[in-house]
Amino acid sequence: MTVPTLVSPLAGDGTPDERLPGNRVAVPASILADLAATGASVTTEMAARSESSRDWWPVTIGWATIGAVGALAGAVVRPSSTEQVAAVLRLCHDAEIPVTPAAGRSGVCGGSIPIAGGISLDLTGLDTIVNVDEVSLTLTVGAGVFGPDLERHLSGFSSGYTLGHWPQSMDLSTVGGWLACRGAGQYSTRYGKIEDMVRGLTVVLADGTIIETEGTGPRSATGPNLTQLFVGSEGTLGVITEATLVIHPIAAAEQRSAYSFATFSDGLEACRRILRRGAAPAVLRLYDVPESQRNFEVDGNVLIVLDEADPAIVEATMGIVAEECASATPLDTSLVERWMGHRNDVSALRPLWESGVVVDTIEMAGPWAALPGVTEAIIAALSAVPGTIVASVHQSHAYTDGACLYFTFAGRSPERPEDPATARDADDAYYRACWEAATMAIERSGSAISHHHGIGLNRSRFMACALGSAFPTLVAIKDALDPKGLLNPGKLGLGDTEAW
Ligand SMILES: Cc1cc2nc3c(=O)[nH]c(=O)nc-3n(C[C@H](O)[C@H](O)[C@H](O)COP(=O)(O)OP(=O)(O)OC[C@H]3O[C@@H](n4cnc5c(N)ncnc54)[C@H](O)[C@@H]3O)c2cc1C
Repeated sequence: MTVPTLVSPLAGDGTPDERLPGNRVAVPASILADLAATGASVTTEMAARSESSRDWWPVTIGWATIGAVGALAGAVVRPSSTEQVAAVLRLCHDAEIPVTPAAGRSGVCGGSIPIAGGISLDLTGLDTIVNVDEVSLTLTVGAGVFGPDLERHLSGFSSGYTLGHWPQSMDLSTVGGWLACRGAGQYSTRYGKIEDMVRGLTVVLADGTIIETEGTGPRSATGPNLTQLFVGSEGTLGVITEATLVIHPIAAAEQRSAYSFATFSDGLEACRRILRRGAAPAVLRLYDVPESQRNFEVDGNVLIVLDEADPAIVEATMGIVAEECASATPLDTSLVERWMGHRNDVSALRPLWESGVVVDTIEMAGPWAALPGVTEAIIAALSAVPGTIVASVHQSHAYTDGACLYFTFAGRSPERPEDPATARDADDAYYRACWEAATMAIERSGSAISHHHGIGLNRSRFMACALGSAFPTLVAIKDALDPKGLLNPGKLGLGDTEAW
């Protein structure tokens, strides 16, 4: 599958304006020859290296609009089997070449930017669907398989199956990227996040050792869960090459509803009560007034609900939803259709970035008891940054004990000069100030600084504080598994966390 690019490739002669500080490790010609001998495809072509140096982190997108990149790999290496990944990592380990795993490059935190140079390890060649077990309802799949290819394969069986993982970036992202970032699909309230779906992994460690974790059944009590050690490790502890995931028969029934609440807190309270009663509608999304106006042209706090499952379960779930939303104003279910039609459309972003408006989203997760206060604190923190035009929020993924809040901010630095080349520095400063303000507010509330986008480069500087007393344990695990620090340096708070 071809990954769509958001902006045109580098302008001019392709010479990158590397913005990120740090030592870049070159890849010697002899190592390039050895890498090619593994059977993986290897390129040092500038266009491929430049393209592999960016993902959907808004900062890199901003740079791309002026033909710049933040860092550049010495080569792009694309293996097509676990054995080739192992051979590549063994070579890089011996030669001390940094390796940055990359797949769909739809990450929004700079996780696949090769800030230490070395090689960009393109995992999209691991695109085999290995096995579907229709009795046990499991799927074993290569890490480089893209979302639509996976769902097309599953729906092709006469019974019809789904993984139930529908991130907004479905077309752009891979199984390995979902697992590496602990991703969440839009139907997660029924099907869970990717970490709930995974049963086992094949992982290649930094020195090229291949390991298999669990995958032996629904649960185990064979010590700590090593699968989950690699889920969310963002390519810093090992490279995921294959995964066994739980699948579901395609749902026989679906129902939709929509409501408007007087306040966002009232809507949150209804969501909390719905989950508390054991109902888990696949989609339960609550938008504040600015987002309700923007998305639905409704002057209120819109809740959209969609469930799919066995008819009896859907009927019971939607009955509970109706009871808990009795005090809200019912809205036409065409609003849900409207959301379905536009849910993966991000075309409005490009003109904003190109006109110098900085826009990004910040997702976090917290307990219900904290959420009304966190909502106010984060909106206030973002609004107080000079230049902010709008700060808004929706609740996107709900659990019995809490939910994910997803904030959007847009603004323009008041100091922004007219010259596009220097304007980017002002944009970066405004952007960074927004992230500092919001993340501090999240940390003060004791909530998680990310729910599904992960840490990457953007949140690296916040990790030590976010993990607190547990952070040295993460560092110790990194040192044990990757003592030379070659796997995705500078990400997840490991390595130089002030890299940009
Ligand atoms: C428009 C848009 C909407 C989005 N919506 C959602 C959403 O709804 N839900 C959501 O969860 N995310 C969303 N994202 C974020 C992004 O799509 C996810 O983080 C996705 O999981 C990344 O997958 P990828 O294949 O693109 O990985 P990449 O961006 O290539 O990599 C992400 C990180 O994972 C590491 N990595 C990738 N593959 C492997 C592997 N096989 N082994 C080890 N490490 C690996 C990389 O080193 C990097 O650190 C969205 C992004 C965009 C641009």
